[in-house]
Amino acid sequence: MSDNDGTKPQDTILVVDDTSTNLTLLFNRFTQAGFKVLVSQDGETALRQAAYAQPDIILLDVMMPGIDGFETCRRLKENEETYTIPVIFMTALADIDSKMAGFEAGGVDYVAKPIDFQEILARIKTHLMIRNLQKSLEAQNLQLEQEINERKQIEAALRQSEERYALAARGANDGLWDWDLRNDYIYFSPRWKNMLGYSEAELQPKISEWFERIHSDDAEQLHQQIELHLAGKTANIQCEYRILHKNQSYYWMLCRGLAVRDSEDNAYRIAGSQTDISGQKSAEEKLRHDALHDTLTGLPNRAMLMHHLENVIQRAKETPNYLFAMFFLDLDNFKLINDTFGHPVGDELLATVSHRLQECVRPSDMVARLGGDEFVILLDNIHDISHVAGVSSRIQKRLADPIELNNHQLFVTVSIGIATNQKPYQQAEDVLRDADTAMYQAKAAGRGQHIVFDSAQHVNLVNRIRFEGQLRQAVENEEFVVFYQPIINLETQEIIRVEALIRWQHPERGLLTPDTFLGIAEEIELIADIDQWVLKYSCLQSALWHAQGYTQLQVAVNMSVGLLQQPQLRHTIIDILDQNKLPATVLNLEVSENTLLKDVDANLKSLNNLGEAGIHISIDDFGAGYSSLVHLKKLPLSGLKIDQLFVQNIGENEKDEAIIISIIDLAHRLKLTVIAEGVENKGQLAFLRKHKCNYVQGYLIGKPMSTEEMTVYLAQKPYRYMAGK
Ligand code: C2E
Ligand code: MG
Ligand code: MG
Repeated sequence: MSDNDGTKPQDTILVVDDTSTNLTLLFNRFTQAGFKVLVSQDGETALRQAAYAQPDIILLDVMMPGIDGFETCRRLKENEETYTIPVIFMTALADIDSKMAGFEAGGVDYVAKPIDFQEILARIKTHLMIRNLQKSLEAQNLQLEQEINERKQIEAALRQSEERYALAARGANDGLWDWDLRNDYIYFSPRWKNMLGYSEAELQPKISEWFERIHSDDAEQLHQQIELHLAGKTANIQCEYRILHKNQSYYWMLCRGLAVRDSEDNAYRIAGSQTDISGQKSAEEKLRHDALHDTLTGLPNRAMLMHHLENVIQRAKETPNYLFAMFFLDLDNFKLINDTFGHPVGDELLATVSHRLQECVRPSDMVARLGGDEFVILLDNIHDISHVAGVSSRIQKRLADPIELNNHQLFVTVSIGIATNQKPYQQAEDVLRDADTAMYQAKAAGRGQHIVFDSAQHVNLVNRIRFEGQLRQAVENEEFVVFYQPIINLETQEIIRVEALIRWQHPERGLLTPDTFLGIAEEIELIADIDQWVLKYSCLQSALWHAQGYTQLQVAVNMSVGLLQQPQLRHTIIDILDQNKLPATVLNLEVSENTLLKDVDANLKSLNNLGEAGIHISIDDFGAGYSSLVHLKKLPLSGLKIDQLFVQNIGENEKDEAIIISIIDLAHRLKLTVIAEGVENKGQLAFLRKHKCNYVQGYLIGKPMSTEEMTVYLAQKPYRYMAGK
């Protein structure tokens, strides 16, 4: 049977028939035909046998005792173990209904009795062939199914791991790339493309899609990193670069990568990730920016200025004729604006000023804010030093335009100190210091000035600062002494008064006269303290002289605006007089014309207040300052002191003489006494006597002297100055 088509050697056939003769006949014939033949005589037995022996085909009689062939077939088909076995019915019934019943019961074929053996053999062979084919097909299917299953499992596992990786990558927000070096093919993950603004379908798997988008400043670095790693010189690739997004702006990325190598250690594949670090970069950038810029105006701050300045100084050292200039600017009266309108307005003003300053210079020049109302401009690479003054006046002009803030119209001027490298500089600090020094000088020169630094100024400034410190110290340590200069009555020739004149016993420079320190004391607001100290000591000394018998002796004390504007001045003076048991009339306060005019209304008020207390007041240096004639009638005056400039010209300048005569006349008409100061010679004295000047003071009568000298002087004959009369 092995040679026939489709059947396999020793196919097993189960023949079921209740008729023994048929069974025997078929058994013999099929056995001869090479089959293994099983037989059974009823349906029940056949069912068990089929399940047990698994025949390849069943030949089933229809009409049997017990269950018939149809029922047997039905049960075979219901049984899992037997349902695939083909069943051929044998029956004498030839009608169509039984055929149908057979097929419905699950049979594959039908042969009529009496059996034509050749026919049945052919049919059996056909069905066996079909069955075997089916079986092998099933086997193949099974294998295929198994293979498919296995593959599915692998794919699932793979997918799972890929998904896991993709998920991780997506979680880390990284894009992935995988570059096959052998085929020069590169895979970009959807996220990688998405980071650059492209969809999954866009961008070719070509390396150029990546490299050509890298910022030109960063490309070299990336290529180097890749080369080094491929050459095995680095453990991995790690590099930050800017890459062009579809929206045409650059994004910062961190790229990491690792090569895969063959057995000979040659890299054939290289893969990695790309992380968007733009946020981190811009945070870093902001930090860096904030560290180097002023928050209010956004201008570079001191740190950035100094860094830039150092570079400029270096360039100046290396380049012949390289010129730069530093402007140190300080707004005039900014404090006043801040105090009057409040800090928000002050801040806005600074912001406006910063814009205007930037408008006045080239983009390559740096405008910086040092803090408060201090700005610095660094003019770099100037072709002609004369431009500097031009820039300065441009700034003043631009700032002079009124600034509208909060319904206020503000006017700003600025004091500018300028340092240029015409004097070579080594250090940034020195440039700033010199510009600052010049600014300080500009401030002193008045509003809206600019001054170019020269080294003498610097020395002055250093000295000045030192001197101020010493002066403060002097007030604290009471390093002052009062000198006294006699004033005599020309008619009676008696000393009627002494003028208290301050001296400073300077620790290094010896005795200093007031012109060397009072101006500074006024500027740094120490003058009121000093004057009060003089007032106190000269009253104390007067009390002592009174006690010694000079009971009519008056004391003249010079007054500054600072003292005049002390709120409790009248009270303070009355206190001092009371403590020394002196009447108010002992004191004669001298106020120079210029002092009076510094704040006329307030001074008039203060002096009237003192006058009401019975204190005498004289105008000092009369005629030397701006005329105060208009105020004469408003003041409780007792005298006028003719300025020594006129007195010294007696006998030399007729006009001065005329002025003196007029002053004396004016004073007398106003019922004031007249004192001439600076009398140095007898000619002057004679002139004054002739024109009925009341009192005189000057070196001829007596120089300013110490307490001890004055005490001796008082005790001596008071007519010495008359010698030679
Ligand atoms: P002053 O009040 O006009 O004082 C007269 C100045 O002329 C004094 O200078 C005095 O030494 C000087 N003098 C007097 N006689 C002659 C003379 O014959 N020839 C010349 N060439 N000069 C003479 P001093 O002591 O240097 O004081 C200068 C100024 O300083 C004073 O001018 C006064 O305005 C001010 N001063 C002095 N002491 C004080 C003080 O305690 N407080 C205030 N606020 N100012 C004072
Ligand atoms: Mg005086
Ligand atoms: Mg005077």
